Amino acid sequence: MASYMAFTDCSTSAPTRTFLFSRFRPRRGLPSIPPHLLQGLPVAGFRLPSLRITNSPSSFPKGNAFLRNKQGFRHFRPFTVLASVSASEAAISTEASAMVIDGKSIAKEIRHEITTEISRMKDEIGVIPGLAVILVGDRKDSATYVRNKKKACESVGVKSYEVCLPEDSTEEEVLKFISGFNDDPEVHGILVQLPLPSHMNEQNILNAVSIEKDVDGFHPLNIGRLAMRGREPLFVPCTPKGCIELLHRCDIDIKGKQAVVIGRSNIVGMPAALLLLREDATVSIVHSRTKNPEEITSQADIIISAVGQPNMVRGSWIKPGAVIIDVGINPVEDATSPRGYRLVGDVCYEEACKIASAVTPVPGGVGPMTIAMLLSNTLSSAKRMHNFQ
Ligand code: NAP
Repeated sequence: MASYMAFTDCSTSAPTRTFLFSRFRPRRGLPSIPPHLLQGLPVAGFRLPSLRITNSPSSFPKGNAFLRNKQGFRHFRPFTVLASVSASEAAISTEASAMVIDGKSIAKEIRHEITTEISRMKDEIGVIPGLAVILVGDRKDSATYVRNKKKACESVGVKSYEVCLPEDSTEEEVLKFISGFNDDPEVHGILVQLPLPSHMNEQNILNAVSIEKDVDGFHPLNIGRLAMRGREPLFVPCTPKGCIELLHRCDIDIKGKQAVVIGRSNIVGMPAALLLLREDATVSIVHSRTKNPEEITSQADIIISAVGQPNMVRGSWIKPGAVIIDVGINPVEDATSPRGYRLVGDVCYEEACKIASAVTPVPGGVGPMTIAMLLSNTLSSAKRMHNFQ
């Protein structure tokens, strides 16, 4: 079964090129590929022994055709197999392609687990986790994020509280709402949507959120504990936590691996590096003043990129078999898209697919995990406050 698949071109934001690929789709729409097709292809940092494949698609064994992780979940979209099927022998030649880490489906599973836990807590102790979100100003992107968070809360049974303040609100007004939520026993998590208007002091505002309700994990005490050996933060920032969760749920080893984090922001790069360190990786951080980013990045077994530069990480930056978590969300012009733009990551996806063993797509990789981790932090907070195991 041949299908056309559009690939983006990393060197430009020009209209996409189209290649002919043959793709083997699972029954019932679930991602799968027969295990023997995986042989010789890089899988999460290791290679299965190679085998020449001569079966026709119709003769693939039926059972056991999914990749499963420890929890028994199936997370990987099918490998894209470049195929040329001769009419006489139906032989298939393959070209290696990275495993796509399907953040959307992993996040869905996590949300399902959270829903189950919330309903157990409600049944056993009558508590419903509550999340308060404070939005200041009228930025459209922030309003969209807040709306999505509210929807996500509803979908798992978290009660959401929302405060929307005008752009010209004072810092004191925001602090007053934070203080109210800090004292409200029905609120287990407080999130201040960033960025705040420029006349406000972000530090003062984030510091005012009670550390016990700091589900974003941005309070200096939480970050400080994250950085210290033997100390436990109450919350870990959601996006970096989501990156590590993707690695865990895909059974990708971190211990002893060379990891490179590109970007050192307080909300993604720096906590991601701290988390990898806690997982016993050897960690390098690349930032805007790094002299040889390509050379450093090309040593990495695991790359987490959080830069905000479209397609900055090219194939030549990637060690064969590396695992890539692409946090970047960058709009690039695309006349073929109804919106006039499309979203790409920091990593040149089609080049990465040929070299890496696993890669997150953008969109559909890290993004859905961020909200799932926010819900997870809110649930943990409610459990901790009510001593519910
Ligand atoms: P940020 O605060 O702007 O930080 C960007 C980091 O990248 C900085 O540390 C900067 O270095 C570094 N950098 C910039 N240009 C570089 C270059 N040419 N070479 C090497 N390093 C460079 O951004 P952020 O908030 O961390 O976000 C990063 C990206 O992730 C953005 O695309 C954002 O939209 C996305 N994001 C996604 C999610 C999600 O849920 N998927 C969540 C948050 C953010 P310096 O420190 O030296 O300036």
